[in-house]
Amino acid sequence: MPFLFWRRKAPQPAAKSDCCNGLTWTAVADFGHAAGVDIDLGRCSVCGSYLMCATYGASATYHRVSEERAAHYLSLQKDDPERLRMVLRKWVDS
Ligand SMILES: [Zn+2]
Repeated sequence: MPFLFWRRKAPQPAAKSDCCNGLTWTAVADFGHAAGVDIDLGRCSVCGSYLMCATYGASATYHRVSEERAAHYLSLQKDDPERLRMVLRKWVDS
């Protein structure tokens, strides 16, 4: 999957969004840090898709994830945070 980077303050961030143009989203969960990357889960407020936001320094990347995957991560966060951290680290590396 190609990573799409842009500066948060760049004038046209929407064009590089992994989801709907505009990219207004609602945060659902903060997954903390994995491999130096800050990871949040949210939902696109246009289409309702789950998005994972990976923030590294001034760059942020958004990736659409399936309902199943989002639910899986959320249940791991609750039941097995250590495992979630491992899974996210792998996700960041991929
Ligand atoms: Zn969307």
